[in-house]
Amino acid sequence: MRCASCGLEIKEPIKTWTVTLGKVKRTKITYGTFQCDKCRRKFKATIKKEETSPEPRQTSAFPPPYVTMIV
Ligand SMILES: [Zn+2]
Repeated sequence: MRCASCGLEIKEPIKTWTVTLGKVKRTKITYGTFQCDKCRRKFKATIKKEETSPEPRQTSAFPPPYVTMIV
């Protein structure tokens, strides 16, 4: 990642975190906070963006609503 003001290459972010977006098609985005060694400027950037396959649908264990008790 390059510093936006002086262009120095910053290899390691000082902090990273991930955010997952979407319910069906999930997109996992990794963000990072970088600090420039030269101008001490801090900035955030997207490091990685990946789409994860949706989880398999779970079959419902509940009885269907039309089932009624017959006495
Ligand atoms: Zn800089």
